[in-house]
Amino acid sequence: MDQWVAAEKAASRRIGFTCGSFDLLHAGHVRYLGAARELCDRLMVAVNSDASVSRYKNPLRPIVPERERMVVVAGLAAVDAVALMEDDRPLSLLLRWKPDLYIKGGDYSEDSLRSGDVVRAYGGKVEVVKSGFETSSSKLIEHIALLEAHAAPETASARTFRGLVLLDRDGTLIRNVPFLHDPAKVEILPGVIDGLLKLQAAGLRLAIVTNQQGIGLGYYTVQDFIAVNQRMLRELGARGIRISKIYFCPHSLAEQCSCRKPATGMITRAMGEFGIVPEKAFLVGDSDDDMQAGADAGCQTVRVNDVGFAAAADQILSLARG
Ligand SMILES: [Zn+2]
Repeated sequence: MDQWVAAEKAASRRIGFTCGSFDLLHAGHVRYLGAARELCDRLMVAVNSDASVSRYKNPLRPIVPERERMVVVAGLAAVDAVALMEDDRPLSLLLRWKPDLYIKGGDYSEDSLRSGDVVRAYGGKVEVVKSGFETSSSKLIEHIALLEAHAAPETASARTFRGLVLLDRDGTLIRNVPFLHDPAKVEILPGVIDGLLKLQAAGLRLAIVTNQQGIGLGYYTVQDFIAVNQRMLRELGARGIRISKIYFCPHSLAEQCSCRKPATGMITRAMGEFGIVPEKAFLVGDSDDDMQAGADAGCQTVRVNDVGFAAAADQILSLARG
């Protein structure tokens, strides 16, 4: 990239620079990059790395990995060069390449002064370009979440919604690995798939309530926890099992929170959000803390390690009928 910049400058072409995450590309991006290209002779785009997007946006973003986002941006007619941006801010790249123009999308206002000063100091110019579209990646995601929240199967199951099964994760659904943070170590326990399918078929909804003290202790991050869940949900989803929600306590024992089982915080929150009375909620777990939490919240409890998951599912079904 250094060579490319040097060659373009040697040929007296004006280089424009812009940056962003370009996670879900939409018309706003295309128009803004097109307008940016009209201001210069060559447009270079720095695409935020996955790590930087996770840091400055949300641990669950980006949706599309950095290499693929770069390929998509590079395919646009307006774009002449693409670079990866490891930092959250473009400061170091601006100083390295000193583009004639630093072009910002209209929705970027924060930090523009600081970068602007740097650009003006070496003799460059800052331009702001508006896309003219209302769409943004965040709005697209919101809309998808809305579709999900109003999906037809939800309405259908609501009619036959007979109760809520709150499932412990480690040692109940998947093999218990202390401080699990490696998706490759996810192993669904015997009887879990069939058991969950039975519960679901009986009109019970499924949610997870899990203590994740490893986050609070700094052994792994929320992203690691989510990656493990993703692996598990993918395997369950492939078999037609739908987990409606995952509640987790990220605190360490020392923090004395109200969510870590045997406290009842996660369970009462789940019952509230699902609009279910304790008599119609079932707590399945493998530990004393699970049983204690379920009982204190007024739920019916089933311990899985005595009977195995298949038998536990049958036990819930008979309780639900009773
Ligand atoms: Zn907690």
